Amino acid sequence: MKSESGVIKMNQKALFIIFGGTGDLAYRKLYPALFNLYEKGYLKEDFAVIGTARRPWSNDHYHEVVMSAIEDAGRDSGRTNDDLPRKFASHFYYQSHNVDDVDHYVALRKLADELDEKYDLQGNRIFYLAMAPRFFGTIAGHLKDQALLTKGNGFNRLIIEKPFGRDYPSAKELNDSISGSFKEEQIFRIDHYLGKEPIQSIAGLRFGNALFNSLWNKVHIDNIQITLSESLGVEERAGYYETAGAMRDMVQNHIMQIVSLLTMERPDVFDSEHLRDKKIEALENIQMYTKEEAKKYFIRGQYGADEANTQLGYRDEEGTDNQSTVETFVAGKLITHNPSLDGVPVYIRTGKRLTKKSTQINIVFKNDDQNIFAKDASEKLKTNVLTMHIEPDQGFTLEFNTKTGNQGYNLSPVHLRYRKTATEKAQIPDAYEGLIRDALMGNKTNFAHWHEVSQAWKIMDVVREAWDEEEPAFPNYASGSMGPEAAMQLLADDGRKWVFNPRS
Ligand code: NAP
Repeated sequence: MKSESGVIKMNQKALFIIFGGTGDLAYRKLYPALFNLYEKGYLKEDFAVIGTARRPWSNDHYHEVVMSAIEDAGRDSGRTNDDLPRKFASHFYYQSHNVDDVDHYVALRKLADELDEKYDLQGNRIFYLAMAPRFFGTIAGHLKDQALLTKGNGFNRLIIEKPFGRDYPSAKELNDSISGSFKEEQIFRIDHYLGKEPIQSIAGLRFGNALFNSLWNKVHIDNIQITLSESLGVEERAGYYETAGAMRDMVQNHIMQIVSLLTMERPDVFDSEHLRDKKIEALENIQMYTKEEAKKYFIRGQYGADEANTQLGYRDEEGTDNQSTVETFVAGKLITHNPSLDGVPVYIRTGKRLTKKSTQINIVFKNDDQNIFAKDASEKLKTNVLTMHIEPDQGFTLEFNTKTGNQGYNLSPVHLRYRKTATEKAQIPDAYEGLIRDALMGNKTNFAHWHEVSQAWKIMDVVREAWDEEEPAFPNYASGSMGPEAAMQLLADDGRKWVFNPRS
């Protein structure tokens, strides 16, 4: 079967066992994503889903929940076959199950075996742990000792969600708890940023264009900037956020994955193994700081009220501690020692309640020292900047200098812009749809390897330890600003400034 884009679509037989089948993630993301895969032909009639959780649901009730999840996700507009969600939901089976109770795994195995036979699934099993990580070890252990892992030619794959630990030791403990049952090649760690198309297209931009490939090195690149800026505050996630903070929520996972994609050397072949090796190498080549360096090069912040006092500060939000020292902002400088970019700084920044929502990457090229166009030799040409817009805009901007209608020969900067249209954006599959399809097909390109996760923790743990030695003076930035002044000074100290600097 071929899609309009000419990509060959294969369907794959599989049994999904979703732990946490009654939860928010399953409802909002997994059921709509699976439905889209069914609608597009990646799943046909030979698949089944077992949802498990403690609630005593019937199969009929489960079918209603699944259909309602599809409807809520708004993906059914314009569908000609109204019966499709019902047909899809008929492949779902609910099994009430407490993950601590061994007997329930016996019942689960029986149902799994029956469905395997009924749908001719050939022993292919995907275990999706849509539950808190503290349950991962228990589930993985019982899947093995109660013989739920398929033997023979079928595959066993485990999909897990963040948070993957709170630091390197806890991440290692978590990894050890599942690695007795699943080998690394069977584990699919979701970092949903890797499911976003603009993040996936970083490799294409770098290695698919001679223009950028030839310039992507320390001779031409002055610095790299990554900003994940949110305009919203902590909203209803205060409970979780109080235990996490911006470093654990955004930096260790999403930002470090982006860093690895931007700084890795070119793989010999574009496949998941070669890409993974280069990403691991890139993270291993990020300079490991001492605590003193970490204090100097990493800035934390927490938002206060806005200047007009119309928005609450973090400490006054519902569910937060009124003396909380949790950071809602992080900026930092990383230095890569990967050969091509050796010594190039990568400035990273993320925060809540900032001026404007935007995820973007700015590649700042070096200035040509010899400005033959300027009357005054000290006059600098505007720096060339390539911006990758990730969200909400998607596309690129290239800023360069050209002669623009003046009598003499003065150069001015212009912007070459490409943005995806609303229609193009609407056609891009949701990150979860793409990631579940990849897991179904056994493609690990867009999942985080344990060595990536562990190296990212090691880099961040030094910063955390340095921070934990001192009580922060929070709040230190106003809602609606672009974070603490120190984050501006971080670049100013290097004679640079943030490219993305919106005014409120
Ligand atoms: P949730 O809504 O609280 O769901 C938790 C699920 O676990 C429920 O189905 C609950 O069902 C089940 N459960 C809890 N204790 C159980 C037990 N002892 N035995 C069997 N089932 C049990 O959480 P969620 O938001 O879906 O998140 C799940 C995981 O994904 C978390 O680790 C979260 O950090 C991660 N995650 C979530 C999102 C998201 O958008 N929601 C995004 C990224 C990552 P019963 O109460 O019926 O047992």
